[in-house]
Amino acid sequence: MSGFTRDSRYYGDRLVYEALLSKWSRYHARCRCGNNWITQHAEPAGFTVVRRGSGFVALTGPGLTEDVDESRLTANALWEAVTGEKGTQAWFEPVRTIDRSEKAEAARKTAAPRPNRQPQARTTTTKNEPITDKQLRYLTTLITKASKDRFNAEFAAAIKGTTVKPRGPQERTMQAVKRLTKPAARKLITGLLT
Ligand SMILES: [Zn+2]
Repeated sequence: MSGFTRDSRYYGDRLVYEALLSKWSRYHARCRCGNNWITQHAEPAGFTVVRRGSGFVALTGPGLTEDVDESRLTANALWEAVTGEKGTQAWFEPVRTIDRSEKAEAARKTAAPRPNRQPQARTTTTKNEPITDKQLRYLTTLITKASKDRFNAEFAAAIKGTTVKPRGPQERTMQAVKRLTKPAARKLITGLLT
């Protein structure tokens, strides 16, 4: 998934935008130049490639990750460089921060070699975790962009197969959202974004 990321292992303290290549190549199809969008558009527009991974490229640059208000992040600057059209993204993206503290890294190391260690117990805990404050804030923004029907459809899809009860006929949107579990909230966010 494309998105704004902080990961001290790869980027130091820089904010970067990790662009999903399949998605951005599709956006670039609007341009019809047939060239590589990174070297032909992104770099000439002032963006810098700071890392290439499998399927994504991490970029920094003006209006994207530099000179920006971090509570109002959009990919409009890159969109304009790549498509030649004005960016119209009106919702703001969150920053995904990868925790590289010693504690988090140690936890990752112990978890990695033995993926089958108590899988049931682990899943159950995560499954029932309540929606986080960050998710709640983000959903508050996303909901204002979605129609009532769209929201209801995505809500129903997000809670499918979970213990979260369907939205009641009189229940207000935010009441329903507050009842979500962390994974269901994540699913709802993804649903509303696509
Ligand atoms: Zn082009």
